[in-house]
Amino acid sequence: MAAETKKATADLSAKMRTQKLRTAIAPAVFAVMAAGLILGVSTGTMSGFGWESISALCPLGAVATMLATKTMVPRAIISLVIMAALILLVGRAFCAWLCPSMLITRLQEFLRTPQKRRKLAAETHEKMVDIARFEIAQAGEGAAAGAAGAKAAVAADAASVATPLSESEKAGLSGCSSAGCGSGCASCVSAKMPHKKLDSRHYVLGGALLSTAIFGFPVFCLVCPVGLTFATVLVVWRLFAAGDMTIAVILVPALLILELVFLRKWCTRFCPLSALMNLVSRFSKTLVPVIDDSKCLETSQGVPCSRCAQVCESDINIRHIAYGERTLADCSRCRNCADVCPTKAITFPVFSGVKAKAGAAAGIGANAPAPVAQPAAVMLDEDALLEG
Ligand code: SF4
Ligand code: SF4
Repeated sequence: MAAETKKATADLSAKMRTQKLRTAIAPAVFAVMAAGLILGVSTGTMSGFGWESISALCPLGAVATMLATKTMVPRAIISLVIMAALILLVGRAFCAWLCPSMLITRLQEFLRTPQKRRKLAAETHEKMVDIARFEIAQAGEGAAAGAAGAKAAVAADAASVATPLSESEKAGLSGCSSAGCGSGCASCVSAKMPHKKLDSRHYVLGGALLSTAIFGFPVFCLVCPVGLTFATVLVVWRLFAAGDMTIAVILVPALLILELVFLRKWCTRFCPLSALMNLVSRFSKTLVPVIDDSKCLETSQGVPCSRCAQVCESDINIRHIAYGERTLADCSRCRNCADVCPTKAITFPVFSGVKAKAGAAAGIGANAPAPVAQPAAVMLDEDALLEG
């Protein structure tokens, strides 16, 4: 591993202060709910929480309940309205701040050897920096071509129109650094993600709802990792407290492990609740991360950085959105990107304005650079901005 890469990846986890906060909040909430479950206090679980009859259902559970019973259930409708309002406000924040699946993922990371952790971090770092180099080079070439065209067209004013490349842009033009990558940077080009409006999670969601309609009960709830986590607590508690040894003691934790350990990337590839939140979150325009291009190293100085993309748990490349597996419709407001940004260029304005509205509706946030203020270094892919 190159010394430069090692250095660049070593400090990132230390900078993710919000991740530490989230890793403290989620188990605390989980512990309160698990204690309520064990003690028989009516706090419910994350699948249906509240107090006694004043409780809200998980949005997927609410839809599935009405589909299974083929009736409009007032509590389910109220729950859906409340959840939709929360998702519009904070996107998929539940996934980063409360979901027990996140804790299991964190545990998996913790159990990795330091070498494995460093190797994975370095691979991601190199990939993201390659993309940044490629985009900077592209933008530099675009700026040079634009300047040349302007020169030819307006010869008399050429001196005032032509914009010479800066030293950093020239450095960017040197190309991709990854092993085996030639000057064509084909790997960087092929790293662009087709952002379709629906992805694998939406098909799982469709399957979950269809099976509910066919069988007359919410089938997915039997295998939902959130429900399975609480069920694991309950069966283990009963095993030790009452010697209640049933098949569930093996089956429930085994299913949970199967989903989260063997179906890696459960949250971004399979989770139907995540898919449901994604559908609503596309219209969110509050607390969406925004990059200040005048501060960002890539847009202001042409220096490849993309640390923000490296640490995103939702597979979003916030700097080069076309290269991320997901768009800002999947932002969980985890704040990792803001924490690691060396120039503090990323903020979460309460209201992101018209640009955020247009971007979020298409699955993109408000970070599309303004055409006038945008330096030559990095441009976002307009096609990607229009895709969900
Ligand atoms: S874009 Fe930033 S806040 Fe949103 S999920 Fe990615 S790292 Fe977290
Ligand atoms: S926003 Fe911050 S972390 Fe992301 S590329 Fe720019 S300087 Fe780097």
